[in-house]
Amino acid sequence: MSAGELYARDQAAVAGIEKLRFFPLEVTEGKGSWLTSADGRQLLDLTATWTACGLGHGHPAVIAAVTAAVQRPPGAGGLSAVHPDSVGLAEDLLAVVPGDGERRVYLGHAGSDANDVALRACRHATGKRRVLAFQHSYHGGVGLAMGVSGVHVDAGAAADPDSCFLPYPDPLRPHTGDPATVLGASLDAVATELAHGDVACLIVEPILSDGGLVVPPDGFLAALAKLCARHDVPLICDEVKVGLGRPGLLHAFQHDGVVPDIVTFGKTLGGGLPLSAAVGPASILDGPAASALLTTAGNPVCTAAGRAVLRTLRDERLPEAAAAAGDRLMAGLRQVAAGSGPGGDAAAGHIGDVRGRGLAIGVDLVTDTASNTRDPALAAKTVYRAWQLGAVVYYVGGNVLEVTPPLIITDAEVDRAVQILGEAIADAASGVVSDDEVAPYAGW
Ligand code: PMP
Repeated sequence: MSAGELYARDQAAVAGIEKLRFFPLEVTEGKGSWLTSADGRQLLDLTATWTACGLGHGHPAVIAAVTAAVQRPPGAGGLSAVHPDSVGLAEDLLAVVPGDGERRVYLGHAGSDANDVALRACRHATGKRRVLAFQHSYHGGVGLAMGVSGVHVDAGAAADPDSCFLPYPDPLRPHTGDPATVLGASLDAVATELAHGDVACLIVEPILSDGGLVVPPDGFLAALAKLCARHDVPLICDEVKVGLGRPGLLHAFQHDGVVPDIVTFGKTLGGGLPLSAAVGPASILDGPAASALLTTAGNPVCTAAGRAVLRTLRDERLPEAAAAAGDRLMAGLRQVAAGSGPGGDAAAGHIGDVRGRGLAIGVDLVTDTASNTRDPALAAKTVYRAWQLGAVVYYVGGNVLEVTPPLIITDAEVDRAVQILGEAIADAASGVVSDDEVAPYAGW
């Protein structure tokens, strides 16, 4: 197949409303951390398909589980019947997510519906409507989950009328103007809203991901959990993007030693298949009955994949692997930022920050390191150039490279990633990619 052919067919056939493109990526196969493009090139995947392929492409455990499940499928969903893998996945999740009392698991298809259902259930259980969320957050692309997603509101979508967006503590670009006060100010804003007594729940990302891979100061989640508990408001921790091993721990919230009331999962959980979950109190997730009905939710193929993913995370010690690979990757990228890595001074002059936990890493691209002014044009050109050089990486928050490779990435692949990213930043900064080349991919 010649380069561009498949892409042209996609443009003519697939709806633009569901596309978020950065370069004309045409992929025909995947294996481990690598994708094969239609013209036969091998591309190092530094996105893990926005973390949905957290175990890499075609993990043997997922292939085995899915193959077995499709051969004797007991129907296609958990709506009106039970089968061993739907019940088993729910039990597996209850075993690995901390929490007290009687709890339940909602099984769904995407992070979006897991969050949507959790939010709606909180409104129903509390009889209150207001949802506290954070600016530039992302919780979903449908319904209430979309209505409380700051990224969508930033892009012009209607916010839910009962949503309230509060500042996420960003140490690099503090909304207070001072990194030392940013955490306290965010928490004060949360406390003020909670005090109104009309809040159904608070939803938070443990690391703000689509909003710019912002790592909050230590203690942020712990303080939120305390405030929510004081006001008897359920705390929903959205682990969809960075949970399940990626941050170097099974759950990102464990970094702060907290136990959220509700935890939502997606992406990595399905091993590339559509699967999500919300884990929380029975008093919230049991009602109202029959109000979150997706015919194929809890289906035998996806739940078998989910169980294989959870087993593999444990058996292959992938949280620990992510911590080690993340340290190596972050160290390499910090060398690039210091001018002593690939890309030399040309790259270093445009990296305002390298931050992250485990294999959730952000490289903040700026016009200059004195002002740290965001450089969205450079981000667009860098990801385009990285694709030309043999890696797939996207950007978030306008100017931040989101580096979230599969958890099974090897040291040699990490080193290759650093090489390509350093070169890509330097090349993009020195004009190798033209404005015209990236113009068709603007808009995120
Ligand atoms: N929550 C977070 C934190 C996310 O990053 C995303 C997707 N970017 C979602 C929820 C929605 O997940 P999905 O696209 O699978 O519905």
